[in-house]
Amino acid sequence: MTDRPTSALLGPAEIRALAAQLGIRPTKSLGQNFLHDPNTIRRIVRTASLADREPVLEVGPGLGSLTLGLLEAGHPVVAVEIDPVLSGALPGTVAARVPAAALDVLRADALRVTEVPGAPSALVANLPYNVAVPVVLHLLSVLPSLQRGLVMVQAEVAERLVAPPGSRTYGVPSVKAAWYAAATRAGSVPPSVFWPVPNVESGLVRLVRRDPPTTTADRREVFAVVDAAFAQRRKTLRAALAGWAGSPAAAEQALRAAGISPQARGETLTVGEFARLAEHKPG
Ligand code: SAM
Repeated sequence: MTDRPTSALLGPAEIRALAAQLGIRPTKSLGQNFLHDPNTIRRIVRTASLADREPVLEVGPGLGSLTLGLLEAGHPVVAVEIDPVLSGALPGTVAARVPAAALDVLRADALRVTEVPGAPSALVANLPYNVAVPVVLHLLSVLPSLQRGLVMVQAEVAERLVAPPGSRTYGVPSVKAAWYAAATRAGSVPPSVFWPVPNVESGLVRLVRRDPPTTTADRREVFAVVDAAFAQRRKTLRAALAGWAGSPAAAEQALRAAGISPQARGETLTVGEFARLAEHKPG
């Protein structure tokens, strides 16, 4: 297959030219690694398995690589970008390449967004790697319209997001993501398709929203016991939860009441078990 000559997508030459024109020097602190491979962009859009014209939320559109891919495929896009130069330039880039595209650009920190226009049902993003997990968790919590997602993150973070209980990489991100969604791996992406080239592999993660576990505890309470359990992940829960419960004996009592062995470690508990444990937090 060859690239369509009429493609709106950005290749290496276009990315360099746009960056030079805008005076952009990609910064590590904002996780600015821009995609410059049209085949990877099409693959991401395809892998997102979106419905026809499904409205999409994109976090960190950057120079517009993935935004153009989504718009070219007919999806309305709301794009949240923290960098004012990039957010300011995006409408012009898009107008020149996908005329009449349905694009809304918000200049905002995705970690502080509480609403977006257009009730997007899918999150599709090449996320800023240093804040990828908090961004995903925050958006799933504040935007109930989001039903699914395909996000690109550092491969190591992808492993953590999808890890099942009992695995080496299971931890706080795995449990908290599982509160909102089923997360599965959806492929790998090599460093060579980015400019500048990052020193890590990237991974795609598919998210499918599901109901949280049925529990009388609220999310904040459940996440508090998750944080406590993994703060000392090598310890038994009886020891690790002593601070959370007030004492090792109180932790043991709560664990027994929740039907969990006090000798278990946090890395073996499902999100449902953490929820049950939160219900038994001593007064
Ligand atoms: N989507 C583009 C692409 O694939 O080429 C750029 C992806 S780049 C990995 C991450 C983008 O997220 C950058 O444009 C960066 O400025 C932006 N960003 C970083 N932190 C952000 C935040 N807290 N909220 C919104 N955007 C952010």
